[in-house]
Amino acid sequence: MRVITSPLEMQHHALALLAAGRTIGLVPTMGYLHEGHASLARIARPRCDEVVLSIFVNPTQFGPGEDLDKYPRDFARDEAICREAGVDTIFFPSAPDMYPAGYSVFLEEHALSAGLCGVSRPNHFRGVLTVVAKLFNLCLPHLAVFGEKDAQQLRVIRQMTRDLNFPLEIVPGPIVREADGLAMSSRNKYLTPDERRDAVLLRQSLDLAEMLAAGGVTEAAEILRSVRDHIESSPHARIDYAVMVDDEMLTPVEALRAPALLALAVHFGKARLLDNTVLRPES
Ligand code: AMP
Repeated sequence: MRVITSPLEMQHHALALLAAGRTIGLVPTMGYLHEGHASLARIARPRCDEVVLSIFVNPTQFGPGEDLDKYPRDFARDEAICREAGVDTIFFPSAPDMYPAGYSVFLEEHALSAGLCGVSRPNHFRGVLTVVAKLFNLCLPHLAVFGEKDAQQLRVIRQMTRDLNFPLEIVPGPIVREADGLAMSSRNKYLTPDERRDAVLLRQSLDLAEMLAAGGVTEAAEILRSVRDHIESSPHARIDYAVMVDDEMLTPVEALRAPALLALAVHFGKARLLDNTVLRPES
């Protein structure tokens, strides 16, 4: 397994692979890897010749007062997980190499990124799209794998790939969970034992919503009331949003008539946790 830190060297490596007729799969991450990230590398593995996993804590997607400085890092552990998952190349650039002095170009999406995380993190998707476009240009992948845990991010990146004609396939990876149902996240490290115990309420509230939908409940207000009440049974939980939106457009829905994304962002102490499920009408 090779580790490349220079963006230019990464691009030369990718060009050499393409010249040799090899296909490239990219898994973009911010490191502090867990089984969720490894699962994305394993999805890429059989679908391409070379799996590139990038590790970059991207400063432009963090807002003022967010956890950029505290974001957990452990490169030695990340390397071991990558080796285990069959990664060929880790791309591990520095922030000054990705955003040299005078850097001034950013990408924006103006529909799917407006709501949900776009409300509480106004420049977040601008940073995400910018870095993902740069990673696409540096790693030249045939496919890139993104987790369904970040449901809005996945949809915004799909839109960018389509609208800017990036010649690659976006492959979704299912949410990987801890044994009790908590979605794996690098930020779970911030949870105190009490918060960690209560964080399972997120998955439970999604289960509750799925049960209501399966039982024929269609009204979004009713489903969301149950979800909120369940989460707020913890004194540690502070809901950022709990919404039911059209699965493709991410616009709010009043009733479950087509697949709807039930998406949660909830603060537990220092951690802001995301989770979601797609609800389908009973029939
Ligand atoms: P991050 O390092 O948190 O920026 O995540 C990098 C990629 O891993 C993104 O595509 C995430 O959606 C994905 N990811 C993070 N956690 C999980 C998980 N529990 N299951 C599946 N994919 C995940």
